[in-house]
Amino acid sequence: MVQWTQVDHELARQSEHVLRTLNEKGYEAYWVGGCVRDELMERSVDDMDITTSASPEQVMDLFADCIPTGLQHGTVTVRSGGYYFEVTTFRTESEYKDNRRPTAVHFVQDIKEDLQRRDFTMNALAMDRNGNIVDPFGGQTDIRDKRVRCVGSAKERFGEDALRMLRCVRFASVFDFKIAHNTWKGLVQQKDLLQHIAMERVRTEMVKMMAGPHPLRGLELLRRSQALEHVKVPVYVERFNQSLLSEMVHLVDENVMLRWSIVLIAGQFTRDEADALLRKWTFSNDDRSRITGVLEVEQQVKALVQEQKNEEALRAEWIVTVLSCGRQATEDWLMIQPLLPSGWRNQGVLQEGQVDAIHFNGAAWSQSMKVHELKDLHITGENVLQSLGRKGGPWLGQLMKYLLRETAIGNIKNQHDVLTNEVKRVAADDKA
Ligand code: ATP
Ligand code: MG
Repeated sequence: MVQWTQVDHELARQSEHVLRTLNEKGYEAYWVGGCVRDELMERSVDDMDITTSASPEQVMDLFADCIPTGLQHGTVTVRSGGYYFEVTTFRTESEYKDNRRPTAVHFVQDIKEDLQRRDFTMNALAMDRNGNIVDPFGGQTDIRDKRVRCVGSAKERFGEDALRMLRCVRFASVFDFKIAHNTWKGLVQQKDLLQHIAMERVRTEMVKMMAGPHPLRGLELLRRSQALEHVKVPVYVERFNQSLLSEMVHLVDENVMLRWSIVLIAGQFTRDEADALLRKWTFSNDDRSRITGVLEVEQQVKALVQEQKNEEALRAEWIVTVLSCGRQATEDWLMIQPLLPSGWRNQGVLQEGQVDAIHFNGAAWSQSMKVHELKDLHITGENVLQSLGRKGGPWLGQLMKYLLRETAIGNIKNQHDVLTNEVKRVAADDKA
């Protein structure tokens, strides 16, 4: 039995059970692709794909609990002990349509033919239940030499499916691998085919790349190849401040999404431009607002330091910023701010000094806020209407916002009678 060191024990056991079941009926079966590669590289494995000589119908006959996920491509999802395994019949691909998807697949009997359709030598590896590795294209040597290399002619393989070019960059970046000479040459030759790839797939690769341990490696490859100038929603490398980019690696683990904020800041995107770009790049609403929140704060801070202000005024402005951009965005900005090289904003000494003051005090100022939202106020819109005997209208929203701001800054206490008095005072002032 194979001793997997990078796989959860039960996951390995269940996958072994699937392989054994196939073998006992006389079919060939192997673990294949990413799981074999990652085990050899001592990287943790959390899903295990299986390839077999059995046809999809034969697989379905053998396993009671299965889902015909992609029958036309030969894939059946088999459930074993609560784990899911994609079991795919040995196949070749042909006649790629629009440099994306194969239009025809043919089932074959030889594992080597199946491995030949795979993208890179390190992904064209299979292992049987006895631990024998099938490696017809030198994948293990390439892993040892830290090299991404296409199976066969790079130009052809990238021509069949242009997404492979971004997978190539992503693997080189995440693993800190070099790219084989001919593979790189093929990529540079075929990069304009990236226009055929859906942005969702482009985004998935780029997010994986940026979340990896060496995002700068990937960005450098993208800069050198200019690949992103050819995707459906292109991005041009010359607009990015390279030294600023290099700071994003300091944003580790739980903050990897904020690396995107730094990229966009380095590309001098306004919040609105960044938002529009991320939308076209199919980022989720949550990711988009997290990423652009920092840019929004940055923009507000830049505007508010234009004039000389004393510390109390800066504090009040900061609190207004927290109210309008949200706590998360201002916390993110405080984290990113010290990473930005001094002077990158091209501001004067006065402005720089004030940004420093905000950075130094911002967290404490945020802490001092007693309220963050209207619902934190000890007065409701209904109370206001009653105490003034007026009908609602846009004025009410403005007045509530004013109360929130003054209470957050600490100019008024968050007490019902104090707030009611303030409402009456403002109403009287307005009449006067
Ligand atoms: P990861 O899961 O870390 O992204 P992976 O190599 O497992 O890496 P998957 O997308 O899960 O990638 O694909 C599983 C396997 O299918 C790959 O190892 C490779 O053999 C093959 N494969 C995936 N995408 C392609 C492609 N575009 N062209 C050719 N083969 C591919
Ligand atoms: Mg995988």
